[in-house]
Amino acid sequence: MRFPRPDKDEIISLLSITDPQELKELYARAYDVKTQYIGRKVWFRGIIELSNICSKDCFYCGIRSGNPSVSRYTISPEEVVEEARWCYEQGYGSIVLQAGERSDSTWTELISKLLRQIKEVSGGKLGITLSLGEQSKDIYRQWFDAGAHRYLLRVETTNAHLYKELHPPDHSFEDRVKCLGYLREVGYQVGTGVMIGLPNQSLADLADDLLFFYDIDIDMIGMGPFIPHKDTPLGHLVPSHNPEEAIELGLKMIAASRIFLKDVNIASTTALQALREDGRELGLLAGANIIMPNVTDTSYRRGYQLYEGKPHLDENASDSRDSLQQNIEAIGETIAYNEWGDSAHFWARTNK
Ligand code: SAM
Repeated sequence: MRFPRPDKDEIISLLSITDPQELKELYARAYDVKTQYIGRKVWFRGIIELSNICSKDCFYCGIRSGNPSVSRYTISPEEVVEEARWCYEQGYGSIVLQAGERSDSTWTELISKLLRQIKEVSGGKLGITLSLGEQSKDIYRQWFDAGAHRYLLRVETTNAHLYKELHPPDHSFEDRVKCLGYLREVGYQVGTGVMIGLPNQSLADLADDLLFFYDIDIDMIGMGPFIPHKDTPLGHLVPSHNPEEAIELGLKMIAASRIFLKDVNIASTTALQALREDGRELGLLAGANIIMPNVTDTSYRRGYQLYEGKPHLDENASDSRDSLQQNIEAIGETIAYNEWGDSAHFWARTNK
């Protein structure tokens, strides 16, 4: 059953709220919807940032190919498999493999090999999400056949004009949307998302983003505040960036998405935590139900800074796990260990 298509003006009016009491009510309303459709629980996906080598040159991103200040790394296959095994042993039901975008065969074959090895070390029990950018339908299928079953590909913004402003001419919004279609056809649970608070982005644009999520019947949403990075063409925005405003708009977008889309998985992303230590917990209270703890070995974390202020660069995965568990329990939520945590929307969509 599909929920009614949200009304654009209604979305804009929720995103326009600034009164603290009304904001509280908005988050509480979204939390009620989450409780009803998902429960008061959180699923963990351990995220492994396996390489910062990227062929793309997005104007906002710290690991863009045109940033010479980044020292490039790729984690060895053995280390990736070890990090995945650690997640499995901790009871994290799933992992996310994320990296810059590459489509050469050395890379695509490495990913297939890693997927098979990770499936093997976890006896097939660890769920695997990929976040590896735009690829051909064939490659998406090869990775699906090798064991991945969810894919996150943000469209970044659905305002095609804004997309053009934020990317070099050879990056195409239409291609990105086409990739979401391929992923769906191959059989993945598909996630997308946008950056919130981009320069020249209006509340109407964000409402259109939410309508886009509805129209393509998305299973998962991974979106977060835009945070400028000094070594990018948007670096001049660093001094004027306002973390409080950015986090508030991010939380409102989570809440509105939960209220209107109801049963999708929504991630409380690291960018929220970069803006405020308890940002991810606030995301859960505004309707999100997924957290992606960083399990990348500390030695690589400095190399994967998409934006300024990436948190916990020196903290190892087990430190993060313990403090995260405490913080989540403190807000009355339960971590659902040893579960894949598939999108309820995916099952409703495919079993109809
Ligand atoms: N290469 C893959 C892709 O293109 O989907 C995954 C890696 S990419 C770095 C992951 C996400 O980081 C992007 O989709 C983008 O939304 C986000 N990102 C990049 N720069 C950012 C910034 N300055 N602020 C917030 N998010 C950012």
